[in-house]
Amino acid sequence: MDTIAQNYLNVKKRVAEAAVRSGRQPEDVTLIAVSKTKPVSEIARAVEAGARILGENKVQEITAKYDELPGVEWHLIGHLQTNKVKYIIDKVKMIHSVDSLHLAEEISKRALNAGRVMDVLAEVNIGGEESKSGVPPEAAEELCLSMAHLEGIRIRGLMTVAPFVENPRESRYYFAKMNKLFVDIKSKNYDNINMDYLSMGMTNDFEVAIEEGANIVRVGTAIFGARNYT
Ligand SMILES: *Cc1c(COP(=O)(O)O)cnc(C)c1O
Repeated sequence: MDTIAQNYLNVKKRVAEAAVRSGRQPEDVTLIAVSKTKPVSEIARAVEAGARILGENKVQEITAKYDELPGVEWHLIGHLQTNKVKYIIDKVKMIHSVDSLHLAEEISKRALNAGRVMDVLAEVNIGGEESKSGVPPEAAEELCLSMAHLEGIRIRGLMTVAPFVENPRESRYYFAKMNKLFVDIKSKNYDNINMDYLSMGMTNDFEVAIEEGANIVRVGTAIFGARNYT
């Protein structure tokens, strides 16, 4: 069997097992196949095996691949510049990386112009790392509240990229901290702030993330192999 197809099915199975371990059903956790830097020919092999949700972190990659892979759902998971929102507003299902009111306002405006409402997640920098985007955990609720009145977006939850650690078990602390924040905001039942999705966990640590409450995981390398950035 094709390697990428096999990898996809294997990751899918591990996601399902982690969901069950954490007291949920396999279908309660969504797997996003992160296809950044990968050519359409390779992505198509994962799609063939059943992948229907693809994640990219660059606007240009979505626009370049969009027409060639019909019938899939695209999620923008990487840092988004305000001036590029217009290129993907009609192409993506959800934007995971909203980390400022300014960006949210632009997404809302463009979405309304396009006659839609965009699902968004607020990105949290849970490890407080200088190199990462996202708001500090203590500012997440405030960001959600500031965006809640925008009619062109629907706040659906939180997203994080946890600090890279050698041992995935060390990520557990950050994932648990994210989950606590997520549950806390959810419990307040604010108008127009839906805490439906907690997007966290990548190749190195997606099982731990699920055990700590993630219901969306974003996995690239384990499906498509290592990326070559040169
Ligand atoms: C690249 C990327 C992923 C996937 O990373 P892997 O370690 O290859 O699974 C997930 N989320 C974001 C935001 C990414 O940029």
